[in-house]
Amino acid sequence: MQSPTNSSPPQPKSKECGSAAVKRGTRILTEKPFAFVLKSKYRLERCDNCLEVAKVLKCSNCRYVSYCNRACQTQAWGLHKHECPFLKKALPRIVPDAARMLCRLILRLEHGGDLVRGYYTEHGSRKFRDLMSHYAEIKNDPKRIEHLESLHAVLTDMMGDKAIVPNKTELMSIYGRLITNGFNILDAEMNSIATAIYLGVSITDHSCQPNAVATFEGTELHIYAIEDMPCLDWSKIFISYIDLLNTPEQRRLDLKEHYYFLCVCSKCTDSKETLEMNGAACPNNKCSAFLNITHNVCRRCGTGVTPKLRNAYKEVMTLTQANLESMKEVAYFDACRVCLDKQAGVLHPLNLWHVKTLDAAFEAAIEMGKWTDALTYGQQLVPGFRKYYGPWNPLLGLLYMKLGKIQLYERLPKEAVHNLEEAQRILSVTHGREHRLLQEQLKHLMLQARHEMRDS
Ligand SMILES: [Zn+2]
Ligand SMILES: [Zn+2]
Ligand SMILES: [Zn+2]
Ligand SMILES: [Zn+2]
Repeated sequence: MQSPTNSSPPQPKSKECGSAAVKRGTRILTEKPFAFVLKSKYRLERCDNCLEVAKVLKCSNCRYVSYCNRACQTQAWGLHKHECPFLKKALPRIVPDAARMLCRLILRLEHGGDLVRGYYTEHGSRKFRDLMSHYAEIKNDPKRIEHLESLHAVLTDMMGDKAIVPNKTELMSIYGRLITNGFNILDAEMNSIATAIYLGVSITDHSCQPNAVATFEGTELHIYAIEDMPCLDWSKIFISYIDLLNTPEQRRLDLKEHYYFLCVCSKCTDSKETLEMNGAACPNNKCSAFLNITHNVCRRCGTGVTPKLRNAYKEVMTLTQANLESMKEVAYFDACRVCLDKQAGVLHPLNLWHVKTLDAAFEAAIEMGKWTDALTYGQQLVPGFRKYYGPWNPLLGLLYMKLGKIQLYERLPKEAVHNLEEAQRILSVTHGREHRLLQEQLKHLMLQARHEMRDS
């Protein structure tokens, strides 16, 4: 998200490297958003200012946004007062999230936001104009142009009579900065609840094998180092912009479509990863090699690949991929189970599509309150998450926490304590020990599990 045509001079990087070593689990950046909007589907259940779930009170003027209390309303007013009349005019229609975000950015820039700086070190900072806009790429992307046209129509409708909607060129440059620098603000369970622009953090580039991670507390963004670093050098700090549980091909496509670059990270350029992700199980059950189904024998143990196995592999991969595609929004327990049954003994336990199916099965089982099944699938999911997300990823930490929670519910306190400790180890690196997720939820579960372990 860095801009090579940065209007401010590049920061002297070697100087930053005079700083002390950074340990894994150190928070290296804290930033408040330049602009953010709560997703409209949470409009009536979360506060528009702090994003908390609460019994919310509507703004008495627009009746569009809600707040958890007077303090939040007062704090939000500085920004909300400019958009309030437009939102009032929009009701009963719901403004698309991207349009509301653009509206906020336009108003923020109009009222001095163009001078606001986000700092990533004591002296290194970025303004909105420093963010990359990918103007040329967007201009040649019919899908983006169509989206922008529709947003322009919504904005003109909403704000038109005040004549403050920028011209199309200007709007495209704001829109471009939004789509290539926008963050999803996640709640403790990693659900996306809002979108936001942060200025300082936009200095951070992407890697599919990141050494830092972004987590949130309310609207505040935190970047934690998940590896030890010799010093704080932002040119060597990488976060992941995308879902890592995907093939290099898919990841590159996602990055190209959203961020307009070709990922050349070590993982994307290593052909071994694709082979492993598509790996079949070796018929020799003592061999754990990722079997390449196009070979005649397993390269590790020499066991032959029969046409029967090859056919079963093709069939189950097609079925699994079709099912996963249709379950993008909601996972269906029975569909997952059919796939998992067919995958057994055919796909390698760390085959990406098998891991994705386990992930879907785990979520579906939880949704249906099938705790025994959830536990089985969740435990099988751990090695796959560890391999593809890496050992210091919030999703792996949360998986351990969910397992611990289910085990507590299933009266397995000893196992629960073990998983909750794993969760704590990971989440204290990705979220920091003081994060509410650890201080409230995890601490509470741990106390309960330890208590029950003593009593059993
Ligand atoms: Zn609030
Ligand atoms: Zn209002
Ligand atoms: Zn990559
Ligand atoms: Zn083998």
